[in-house]
Amino acid sequence: MNVLMERARQEIVDLGRRMSSEGLSKGTSGNLSAYDPEIGYMAISPSGIGYFDTEVNDVVIMTLHGMIVEGDRKPSSEHGLHAAFYKNKPDAQGVVHTHSNYCTTFACLNMPIKAVHYVIGGAGAAEIPCAEYATFGTAELALNAVKACGASSAVLLANHGLVTCGPSLAKAFSLAVDVEYVAEIQWRAMCVGKPVIISDEEMDHVMKEFKNYGQPQKGK
Ligand code: 13P
Ligand code: ZN
Repeated sequence: MNVLMERARQEIVDLGRRMSSEGLSKGTSGNLSAYDPEIGYMAISPSGIGYFDTEVNDVVIMTLHGMIVEGDRKPSSEHGLHAAFYKNKPDAQGVVHTHSNYCTTFACLNMPIKAVHYVIGGAGAAEIPCAEYATFGTAELALNAVKACGASSAVLLANHGLVTCGPSLAKAFSLAVDVEYVAEIQWRAMCVGKPVIISDEEMDHVMKEFKNYGQPQKGK
């Protein structure tokens, strides 16, 4: 019986289905994980199973060193990539990887996503960089991604897709939606002319404002 990280397993199933139905990942492309720093385990989607065929018991629980703690399935081939984000980003508790169309288009051009729209500030950076190419599922890809990501919470993988991280899986997911939106707008703007890029000063201002965006946290 699977007993570890029950809520995270369910969230991976639910958000995986949204990732697929919202067009962020076709077929079995992409993967999701959630990390619990108290126990040091991550829950991650299984490899090569369609999102609507994935059940809570298919989710795999692992250490950040690649050891399976619970689950009968083979974990996502990108488990090392997810673990690299948790090891290098102390606040990350959720990671999402997609092959969403517009982000992947820029990744295939090895071109970053720029501040064509203020919503990019949700990534905590004025630009989403593109990491150097490496084969999917390799330690080299994980290294390249973390290196290129820097202070940003999102990075493109050359000729492959997008990775986002956040303080929860839900936040990493919503960042992946937002970054795909900005990538689409950048592409559309480039089809018509030369997009105007928001200045770094204004983006610093936007990022400060983002800290107070939305409803105040309960108890604050
Ligand atoms: P998995 O099905 O193994 O998660 O792989 C999908 C993918 O996007 C690899 O980069
Ligand atoms: Zn991929």
